[in-house]
Amino acid sequence: MIVNLHEYQAKKILKRFGLVIPEFSVASTTDEAKEIAEQLGLDQAVLKIQVHAGGRGKAGGVKFAKTRTQIAQLARELIGMKMINQQTGPDGVIAHKILISKPVDIVREFYLGTLIDRKSAVPVLIASPEGGMEIEEVALKTPEKILTMPFGFDGRLRSYQLLRLAKFMGWEGELAKKGMQTAAGLAKCFIETDASLLEINPLVQTKGGDIVILDAKLAIDDNALFRQSEIVAMYDPGQVSLQEAAAKEYDLAYIPMHGDIGCMVNGAGLAMATMDMIQLCGGAPANFLDVGGSADKEKVAEGFRIILSDPKVRSILVNIFGGIMNCATIAEGVIAAAQELKIRLPLTVRLEGNNVEEGKRLFRESGLKIQSADDLKTAAQLAVG
Ligand code: ADP
Ligand code: MG
Repeated sequence: MIVNLHEYQAKKILKRFGLVIPEFSVASTTDEAKEIAEQLGLDQAVLKIQVHAGGRGKAGGVKFAKTRTQIAQLARELIGMKMINQQTGPDGVIAHKILISKPVDIVREFYLGTLIDRKSAVPVLIASPEGGMEIEEVALKTPEKILTMPFGFDGRLRSYQLLRLAKFMGWEGELAKKGMQTAAGLAKCFIETDASLLEINPLVQTKGGDIVILDAKLAIDDNALFRQSEIVAMYDPGQVSLQEAAAKEYDLAYIPMHGDIGCMVNGAGLAMATMDMIQLCGGAPANFLDVGGSADKEKVAEGFRIILSDPKVRSILVNIFGGIMNCATIAEGVIAAAQELKIRLPLTVRLEGNNVEEGKRLFRESGLKIQSADDLKTAAQLAVG
């Protein structure tokens, strides 16, 4: 799992690593926006919605104001705006805050990012002189315009790497010096924040000859949160759906999808296989949900409530292979939640493994209307209907 930060939060952190960012502040109301314009002495400004998704420019979430009055007008439009695009999922996300920043005279836009390359299991720097657009598209159409350089877990890019980067980006003289400093700062920040992704798109060259960061995306590895208390405090649960927020609270691995068959499974591999099987049987899963191997009755019940709170769901498939997980525990959790919420949806259950007989008995005697199956394919067929 990954914790995403807002652009303004990422920029606050980046500043501490000595990175150059145009002056900015954050507003939650139109009045605050006016105050910021006054305080920063801005007669022109860039206003950007703060949501956990990219592509804001194309979606109308980035606006340029030419006067103070316009700053207030645009702030009113953007605060509370709902953005829907491929990255947000079908429900979209709402911007409760906007970032207000000084406009910069852009000469060129670049891309600079760091992430963990899962294949080689090392951090890599990814750079491109084609910034401002989606890097996936650049990688697809013009892969020669992307430079990938692995670096160590000490967060240090070697000088030969920095020189190679400057050459690749077309930076010379002072510009090269500034660009190399930026890359070095990013690599350091990436490691020290336990990030899984730090992406600057665009990094720009200004008319004044500076290299500055205009956009920043920072995502932190969940496993490191115990030593990133400041970042934990920054996390904004308002950016995910109610279901995702509840799942996070109960430590359930839950991802919403577009279909209408709710799935409750233990183990990520089995959950994937279940989703594939539903698809093969002509259906579409409403979610991915891995209750894990050590869930208790309460956690199972919460998982079931989360599935039921999604109005798209018209049928539920419980597929459990009890290893460490005890089938009776699953049955108790599902039955408790199903009775409490008086479910009317068709419920298909497939249980196997540890304490399966007891689990089956509990379901049989629960009074719930259940379609039971012994193998995954039959279960998926029944659930799809
Ligand atoms: P997103 O990636 O979500 O679309 P960005 O922050 O990258 O949002 O903004 C989109 C574009 O707006 C940038 O590529 C850049 O061209 C322009 N932009 C953003 N901030 C500024 C700024 N401070 N000054 C001038 N242009 C900006
Ligand atoms: Mg961007």
